[in-house]
Amino acid sequence: LNYEYCDQLIRDFEDVVEQPIVSKSSVYYTGVDLGTACVVLAVLDENYKPVAGAYRYADVVRDGMVVDYIGAIKVVRELKQELEVKLDAELIYGAAAIPPGTDILDSGAVKNVVQAAGFELTNLLDEPTAANKVLGIQNGAVVDIGGGTTGISILKNGEVVYIADEPTGGTHFSLVVSGAYGMSFKEAELYKREPRNHKELLPVLKPVVEKISSIINQHIKNHDVKEIYLVGGTCCLTGIEDIIEKNTGIFTHKPQNPMFVTPLGIAFSC
Ligand code: ATP
Repeated sequence: LNYEYCDQLIRDFEDVVEQPIVSKSSVYYTGVDLGTACVVLAVLDENYKPVAGAYRYADVVRDGMVVDYIGAIKVVRELKQELEVKLDAELIYGAAAIPPGTDILDSGAVKNVVQAAGFELTNLLDEPTAANKVLGIQNGAVVDIGGGTTGISILKNGEVVYIADEPTGGTHFSLVVSGAYGMSFKEAELYKREPRNHKELLPVLKPVVEKISSIINQHIKNHDVKEIYLVGGTCCLTGIEDIIEKNTGIFTHKPQNPMFVTPLGIAFSC
């Protein structure tokens, strides 16, 4: 495993989200990540180098399920068009991912959203497998703390062998901030995302992080997990990794920008 490679890749992606690289690539691969809080598109060139990316906070998916089908298509289509203008190229191939365990219920909806937005769908895989294309874990647990839920996936010899999804995530953090500061949910959500507020917020949010840690402990107790890898937007909270490491007693690695791991992994699977 190469943390440096993984972090450099994500740093490169962060750069191209700010400033796309216009190249003469013969083909582009796009990863589409439809999340509860956020829709992210990651674009790689013919050499699988990140060249562009875009994201938008949107309320089109809840706990991995598409709840606003038309809205989801609109967001993906708009982000696609925005990137096509910036790259001066057409984005043809797209891949997507679904939370593990939701395939029977929702893979059809996710597939249709990506196709209706104008992509030729080349792959539909589960989120931890996608994240692992970037993380390259052989043995360990991927903990994906998103908006609505926390997903725990255990990998052995590079394969996902156990999955769980529990309904505690970033939304609960925002509710706690809202209650503690007397803010509306929307204000609390924005306040929470701002990195300069994280130091002040961490003690307020610690009980929720401890609750998530106990959920992790419950699911990994029958497995020999030596490392935890944090992904998902909620892991952007500065210091969350230290609380999780302390409460689980397991080495916890937080990649550079955990929100971008899965979308990049999806693009690698395109
Ligand atoms: P789910 O996995 O539950 O379907 P999702 O895929 O939309 O949700 P992510 O995009 O991984 O989830 O994460 C969204 C969550 O991350 C939201 O609750 C959001 O408030 C939180 N989040 C995003 N950026 C930050 C930040 N900088 N600091 C703290 N929390 C953040």
